[in-house]
Amino acid sequence: MKEDAIVREKAEVADVVIVGTGAAGLFCALNLPQNLKIYMITKDEAQNSNSFLAQGGIATLKSQDDYEAYFEDTMRAGHYKNNKASVETMIKSSPEIIDDLINYGVDFARDEEGLAYTREGAHSISRILHHDDITGREITSKLLEEAKTRANIQITEFMTMVDIIVEHNTCKGVIAYDKQKKLHAIYAKAVVFATGGIGGLFKFSTNFKHITGDAFAIAISHGIELQDVNYIQIHPTVLYTKDEGRRFLISESVRGEGAILLNEEGNRFVDELQPRDVVTAAIKKQMQKYNTEYVYLSMRNMDKNAIQPRFPNIYKRCLEEGYDLRYQDIPVTPAQHYFMGGIKTDLDAKTSMENLFAVGEAGCNGVHGANRLASNSLLESLVFSKRGANAIEKNIGKIDYEFVTLNLDKYNNLKELQKKYKQLIMEEIKKRDREFYDKWCSDENQCG
Ligand SMILES: Cc1cc2nc3c(=O)[nH]c(=O)nc-3n(C[C@H](O)[C@H](O)[C@H](O)COP(=O)(O)OP(=O)(O)OC[C@H]3O[C@@H](n4cnc5c(N)ncnc54)[C@H](O)[C@@H]3O)c2cc1C
Repeated sequence: MKEDAIVREKAEVADVVIVGTGAAGLFCALNLPQNLKIYMITKDEAQNSNSFLAQGGIATLKSQDDYEAYFEDTMRAGHYKNNKASVETMIKSSPEIIDDLINYGVDFARDEEGLAYTREGAHSISRILHHDDITGREITSKLLEEAKTRANIQITEFMTMVDIIVEHNTCKGVIAYDKQKKLHAIYAKAVVFATGGIGGLFKFSTNFKHITGDAFAIAISHGIELQDVNYIQIHPTVLYTKDEGRRFLISESVRGEGAILLNEEGNRFVDELQPRDVVTAAIKKQMQKYNTEYVYLSMRNMDKNAIQPRFPNIYKRCLEEGYDLRYQDIPVTPAQHYFMGGIKTDLDAKTSMENLFAVGEAGCNGVHGANRLASNSLLESLVFSKRGANAIEKNIGKIDYEFVTLNLDKYNNLKELQKKYKQLIMEEIKKRDREFYDKWCSDENQCG
């Protein structure tokens, strides 16, 4: 049901609209001045974001001595396609971001020496902070708690952005549907896309199903510049199941702590700590060789008493599926996981459209190159959303609301619109990389 002619008087206004309540959206909101009216909308419950699902941790510059190695690890994982300035900015900002998180009450694991660091694939040393194996939940829930205390931040759940309001390549707000399928025009001086990746478009993905790259499709339809559209990460190890639905990730930190991969004959076939794309390719090869739908991940060589305390969430979930990690190998298979590409931004999260910003997985400043290094995405989301907030703060005083005449008829059929948006994204991937498309995005790999 469409609200009849939303006119100037009826339109809602905010200084900043942030679309998405994952780590990137929340951190952006918290870094904006508290005298700005911030309207956050999200397609589902506020806590249902991929940020909440993050298991392994958040990477950080452990000490200045680690700078070169961390930079090289990020570049090597990204096949040297990364934007060096973005990598430098991310790494150098990481200690400040970790301090911010601790100040918001985030509780990272500690040992006798202070913060406890763990290791994941393609990191040359242990430089990852974590909270058990639910680091994303710990970080994002603390940010969400803080946002809820701020009088200037309004969060509306089940409000889905379907378009932006645009005039002369300037973004003036968003169009969104609420839970009752009522259409809203929300005007703003700045709009931030914090809508995450595109995993919901894939049949097999670790992502929430409602995270379907809507901002990305909207960007395509408005001619906003994109970057690295074909850089889509397939995670090597999700728990194999015949069931439909979101795939359960077996974090790389499990391999970082010593788990090994075995083929049908019980033999190791790859260095488990290689970058994700290398491990994924090796697993695929074994699956083809033995005509199986999975390989095995084994923790049998690890200290049995350490497995459950270190990975309580993974341990519990595997047990529910009938596997005791201490004694049994588990079947694992690759699945879509992360979108390195996205809406092109500069280091301040600005897109090619005036007053429009893209942060977190929705944006792309080239920091990950062709393949993201493990535990760099929470960090990247926080570093560049804070920079985006600072850039908005600097400029917002010069911007005024401008109301435009809207034709709302084209949003009548939400299902059709979603179908069209999916096609736009898939066509874009196909155009940029036919080989990747054929391998991972063909009809049988897409959501119905
Ligand atoms: C299982 C899993 C494990 C991971 N583990 C790690 C890890 O250990 N370390 C690490 O660094 N990274 C990890 N990641 C990646 C990381 O969690 C995310 O990439 C990152 O947090 C992205 O954050 P974000 O805020 O950009 O997007 P998200 O957290 O995905 O949030 C997107 C938000 O946008 C909203 N949204 C989407 N479309 C619309 C729309 N049309 N209208 C309104 N709202 C919309 C969603 O509802 C959601 O609130 C993991 C990811 C997954 C899936």
